[in-house]
Amino acid sequence: MRKKNALILLAGGKGKRMESSLPKQFMDLGGKPVIWYSLYAAQKSELIDEVVVVSGPEYFSEIRTLSDRNGFDKVSHLVEGGEERFLSVINGVNALLETGTGCETFNGVPEVILIHDAARPFIDDEIIGRCLESVSEGCGCVAAVPSKDTVKLADENCMVTEEPPRKNVWCMQTPQAFYTDVLKKACDKALDDYKKSIEVHDAILAITDDAQMVRMYEGTSVRLAMGSYDNIKITTPVDLVIAEKILEEKRK
Ligand code: C5P
Repeated sequence: MRKKNALILLAGGKGKRMESSLPKQFMDLGGKPVIWYSLYAAQKSELIDEVVVVSGPEYFSEIRTLSDRNGFDKVSHLVEGGEERFLSVINGVNALLETGTGCETFNGVPEVILIHDAARPFIDDEIIGRCLESVSEGCGCVAAVPSKDTVKLADENCMVTEEPPRKNVWCMQTPQAFYTDVLKKACDKALDDYKKSIEVHDAILAITDDAQMVRMYEGTSVRLAMGSYDNIKITTPVDLVIAEKILEEKRK
């Protein structure tokens, strides 16, 4: 029997870099809100059993309507997002584990939790499959693509400090997949630290992806699985133009 897998869909961001009052995950892409595409991919995937959506409570009724109208019955929980991305993840994980499940297609605690940005509409079964093949009890997994650009690290004065060889540079995407117990332990420790001193608090705020959190708190190895150059995150207005083009190509 295959593993039971839950997907936490993160839609709790405010989209400050989009310069719009409507967060990017709810903007229109090809006649549907951006979040629709991830919900659809999860619903039709044989590899996903349950979906938890994390968002601002003001969007709950929109997500509920979207799910009801489209038969997205894998959505078992709508959970309020946190101020930071990792706090949204923690809320999603806790909701999933606290109440078991309200989902008709799945019962019990999932073995693996995948975390996905609702702002990445082009997740597909191939990417999900590669992440699930690579994740194991001792090793998390992140979808990623080799960097097309040369990357340099710089200090606060824009002086170059490090030049990693391009062949070793990968751009992180989502989904990011972890065994449930490892992710839960990392979330609990991160939350404890967040409530502590200002210095620790600042270090946690620098965490921008889930693998970073799990590596930092559980020392878990992380393997990269091939994502896709189409699996873009809509962040600034030009990304929506690019996403429309990708969608056009996919519909051909
Ligand atoms: O801000 P960023 O582009 O990294 O957001 C990636 C994803 O995480 C988006 O789908 C966004 O809605 C979500 N997010 C969240 N809670 C936050 C910040 C971001 O769910 N506090």
